[in-house]
Amino acid sequence: MLKICVDIGGTKTIVGLINEDLEIVASQKFKTDKNVPEKEFEEIINLANDYVENFENVDKTSLNIAMPGPCDYNQGLFLNPPNLQKYNGFNAGTYITQNSEFKPRFVNDTDAAILAEHQYIKAQTEDFIYLTISTGVGMTYMKQGQLISGIDGNFGEIGHTVIKSDSSYQCPVCKQYGCVENEISGLAISRKASGILKREVSTKEAIEMYVQGKDKTITHMIEEVLNLTQQLCTNLFSVFNIYHIVLGGGVTQSPLPYKESIETYVKEHHLVRNSPISIKVSDLEANVLTGLYFVNES
Ligand SMILES: [Zn+2]
Repeated sequence: MLKICVDIGGTKTIVGLINEDLEIVASQKFKTDKNVPEKEFEEIINLANDYVENFENVDKTSLNIAMPGPCDYNQGLFLNPPNLQKYNGFNAGTYITQNSEFKPRFVNDTDAAILAEHQYIKAQTEDFIYLTISTGVGMTYMKQGQLISGIDGNFGEIGHTVIKSDSSYQCPVCKQYGCVENEISGLAISRKASGILKREVSTKEAIEMYVQGKDKTITHMIEEVLNLTQQLCTNLFSVFNIYHIVLGGGVTQSPLPYKESIETYVKEHHLVRNSPISIKVSDLEANVLTGLYFVNES
């Protein structure tokens, strides 16, 4: 059975047809309409109807959608997505049921990703955390093979918890100083490097400079980012009493030594010594889109 899965991002939207082996059988990409949510969902419904007509063995009612939070994921109601401000108050669930035959299900993107990662780690463990570090930072938690979503699907908004208490950078979203997203994300690395070198520096360039040891101040800055990430992971191991964290997102795919440095730090500082903790860097491309397959399985 093939399922139609949709990944709505701040810049692009992907409507894909996924099989049970997490393979993308077909996919269509378009620029996310940031201004008119009705147009965005009309386009999604059109592409989904095309799949129903043109492919065999498609689940004709499922439409599993990952969308940026915060949302009420039970309804598909956008609450206050930072990158899609015109969507505030738009109810995608109502729009889709009124304009199509689909029965939509909504999750945030990290929830979708952990469902895909679960397929690959379940032989080892049913209890783990997925931490994504890309433009932003997000996390999600699977307990005994069940996704923990929180009361309205916003579990794990770790990006706006404070990790660096002496930070001088105020978050434009939560107005705190030193929140996780502004200290360890890809955007944070680029912002900090640009401030140091007094010119626009991309995340990729900053990481390359670190790897080549080109600039002492950049090296020091990235070392601090890694150190904060190690502390964050130690917090997660302690709070959730788990042995496994899977890291995903673009920044973790870089040459930065996340796995080694976090494992070393956690082993030195975690109170339960000799626990078999491990960090795995995800090797799944498109884990958000493919993980959506499992949204209405459980
Ligand atoms: Zn914040």
